[in-house]
Amino acid sequence: MAGYDYDLFVIGGGSGGVRAARLAAALGLKVGLAEESRMGGTCVIRGCIPKKLFVYASRFADEFELAPSFGWTLGPATFDWKTLVANKDMEISRLEGVYLKAVENAGGTVLYERAEFVDAHRLRTSRGRTITADTILIATGARPTRDLLGGTGVEHCCTSDEAFDWKELPRRLAIAGGGYIAVEFAHIFNELGVDTTLIFRKPKVLRGFDEDLRDALHESMGRRGIKVMPDRQIAEVSKKGKHLNIRTASGDEIAADKFMLAWGRTPNTEGLGLERAGIETAANGKVVVDEYSRTSVPNIYAVGDVTDRLALTPVAIHEATCFVKTAFGGEPTRPDHALVPTAVFSTPEIGTVGLAEARALELGHAVDVYKSTFRPLKQTLAQRGDRIMMKLVVEQNTDRVLGCHVFGDDASEMIQLAAVAMKMGATKKQFDSTIALHPSAAEELVTMRVKSYSKSL
Ligand code: NDP
Repeated sequence: MAGYDYDLFVIGGGSGGVRAARLAAALGLKVGLAEESRMGGTCVIRGCIPKKLFVYASRFADEFELAPSFGWTLGPATFDWKTLVANKDMEISRLEGVYLKAVENAGGTVLYERAEFVDAHRLRTSRGRTITADTILIATGARPTRDLLGGTGVEHCCTSDEAFDWKELPRRLAIAGGGYIAVEFAHIFNELGVDTTLIFRKPKVLRGFDEDLRDALHESMGRRGIKVMPDRQIAEVSKKGKHLNIRTASGDEIAADKFMLAWGRTPNTEGLGLERAGIETAANGKVVVDEYSRTSVPNIYAVGDVTDRLALTPVAIHEATCFVKTAFGGEPTRPDHALVPTAVFSTPEIGTVGLAEARALELGHAVDVYKSTFRPLKQTLAQRGDRIMMKLVVEQNTDRVLGCHVFGDDASEMIQLAAVAMKMGATKKQFDSTIALHPSAAEELVTMRVKSYSKSL
C-alpha cells in the first residue's frame, strides 16, 4: 500500500461510510473520509432519526384522544412546531458529533470537503487537494428525486429534506408518491393537524408489501382523515396567490400550502467523476457492484443507497462491515440481504419481514396463511376504530414461516424479534409452542391456531 496517502478513502459520511471508515481505521489502516455536508448522512440529518422524532411528536395526538377514556381530564392541547424543530436540531447536532468522533477516535481523518474522482486511485477535493488512496469506498447515498416526472411547476415543489426545517407548519399539505416517505410524512403531518392529501399513481400505496398490510393501511388512512387520491398523475403545479394549485392529469385541482415530492430517490453519483475512474453505473445512475460490493474497478467499492440494493440504514451498515472484512480482513464476506425486517412508520405502523403472500406464491411456494384482526386493548375503553392486523405466511411442506406482517402499534418492535426467529428458520409449530406473553398484542403471533386459508399457484 506504500505510495498512497491513504490505505482507504471513503466518500460520504453517512451510516455506511462512517462504519467502514471506523472499522478500517481500527484495524490500523490509514483512513480518510470526505463529507461535503454534515456527518451522519441521510439517516441522521434528514432521514430516519429526525423522521422518527417527528413520528413520536405526531403520536401524542392519539394519546390525548385516548386519555379521557382512562379518566384523565386534559386542558386544551396545543402544539408548537418551532419547539419540535429546535429540539430535533439539538439532538441531530449531538449525533453529528458522535459520527465525527466515531471516525476520529478510531484514528481516521475527516475532511469536510467534496471529493471527486480523477482516476481509479486519485481524488480531487473541493479545496483543490489531490488525494491518493489504495482502496476507495463510494458511500455517497441518495437524495429525493426533485422532478415532476412530466408535469410542470417543479419550482413550487419541495421534498422531505426541507420539511425537517420548515419555518412553520403548513395548513394544507399535498404529497406525491406512495412509498415509505410519502406514507410516513402523510401520517406525521396529518396527526399534527395539517390537512393532508396523498396523491399516487397506482390504486394502492406501498407496492410490494403484503396486500393485507396495504388494505389495512388504506382503511386506516381514510379513517384518520388523510385525503387519499389513488390513480393520479401530476400534470401541473402553479402558484395561486399565496397558495399552490396542484392539477392532476385526470383534472382534479388540489389547493395546498406545500407540495412534497416523495416518489423515489436519486443516487448521488452526478459529478463524482465516476467515468474518469472507469466505474460502471446502471441506467438509474446507481453504482453497479458485485456480491462483495466491488465496482467494475477492482480497488473501488460502493455501499448503501448509492447502489441498487435495499435502501435501508442497517443494510448500508451491514454492507460496510462486510466490505471491510472482504477488503482488509482476509475474509471475503457477501452482505446477506435475506429476511431484512423493515417498518413503515405510519400511525399505526407497519412491520414486516420475509415474503408477502403474493410473492411467496410467485416463487412457487404452496402456503398456509394465518390472519388475525382485532381491536387493541388500549383502545377498548374509548371504543376507537383502530384495528391490529397480523399475518403469517407459512410454507406448507416445511411448516417454515416465510413471512410475518403486522399492522398496528409497535409493529416495528415486534418484527425485529420475529426476524430473529425467522432467520433461524422457525416453523409455525415453533411459533405455536412458544408461550404467549399476556396481555400483549404480540401474543397473537404465537396463538393463531386456526389456518385462514391455503393457497398455491
Ligand atoms: P419508495 O421506493 O418507497 O417509493 C417510491 C414511490 O414513488 C412509489 O410509490 C412509486 O410508485 C412512486 N413513483 C416512482 N416513480 C413514479 C412516477 N414516475 N410517477 C408516479 N409515481 C412514481 O421511495 P421513497 O422515496 O418513499 O423512499 C426511498 C427509499 O428509502 C425506500 O425505498 C426505503 O428503502 C427507504 N426508506 C426507508 C424508511 C424506513 O425504513 N422506515 C423510511 C423512508 C425511506 P409505484 O409504487 O407505483 O412504483
